[in-house]
Amino acid sequence: MPARTAAHHPPEVGTAQAVPWETTYAAMASAPAGAVWGVPRGGQIIAGLTGRAVDTPDAADVIVDDIIDSGATAHRYDCLYPLKQFWAPFRKRPGDGWLIFPWEQDDTTQEIEDTVRRQLEFLGEDPRREGLRETPRRVIAALQELTGGMRQDPSAFLAVQFTEPCDDMVLVRDIPYASLCEHHLLPFHGTATVGYIPRNNRIVGLSKIPRLVRCLARRLQTQERLTHQIAQALLKALGAEAVGVILTGLHTCMTLRGVRSQGLMTTSAMLGAFRDDPRARSEFLALAGGQR
Ligand SMILES: [Zn+2]
Repeated sequence: MPARTAAHHPPEVGTAQAVPWETTYAAMASAPAGAVWGVPRGGQIIAGLTGRAVDTPDAADVIVDDIIDSGATAHRYDCLYPLKQFWAPFRKRPGDGWLIFPWEQDDTTQEIEDTVRRQLEFLGEDPRREGLRETPRRVIAALQELTGGMRQDPSAFLAVQFTEPCDDMVLVRDIPYASLCEHHLLPFHGTATVGYIPRNNRIVGLSKIPRLVRCLARRLQTQERLTHQIAQALLKALGAEAVGVILTGLHTCMTLRGVRSQGLMTTSAMLGAFRDDPRARSEFLALAGGQR
């Protein structure tokens, strides 16, 4: 059974993203006419920006929010006020990062950066010295980047599927990932090898698998759970005959603290035929560990 292999380094997809006022004002241009009531709290600011805000939904022609993400808020107000239009200047699309509006930037970001300053003081440091002045901002930005997958929908990467007359194993090897150990908030990183046997010729683009791996890695994780989540996501989205995932991870919480000299761990998850059929499994393992 031939395997198709590929190494992929797709661009990182969006994480937290600051929305400038300019973009906000541009989006406000399409606000509907009439009296406006805003859903607390983001919607209240949007309503205020129209200059037509009123104090109760009953007095309004339009109910506004700052963003429509899941659509749950819009649905709730549609049920409560079926005759009133619901509007938001921003709409979240699948794969979009987490948007931070101008009115959200200061308090949340500032407060969280202050907690880093306090940790620096706790360690006996002076957070005002030159080398540390920007550290709180960098620490929070790095944490947001390393957990950016929490604000993405992993199934979105696998939604686009196509059919190809192929029931052979598909294998993507040595996908680099970086994750954050949930016990110490220290990074672990390594590579993932992901293989599956399609059912009814249903496959996904090969670049989607590294994106899935990265999305699931970019959150607080354990390597075992990450391995299983990747396998389960593929099985669920594709209904594949078999899914196999092997991860290697170097855990800095172990290597840096000298707990174990190596800190290198291998985990695997085998589903479907890779779990039940020894022949299929050994074929997967041979290809996964084969020549590079
Ligand atoms: Zn750890």
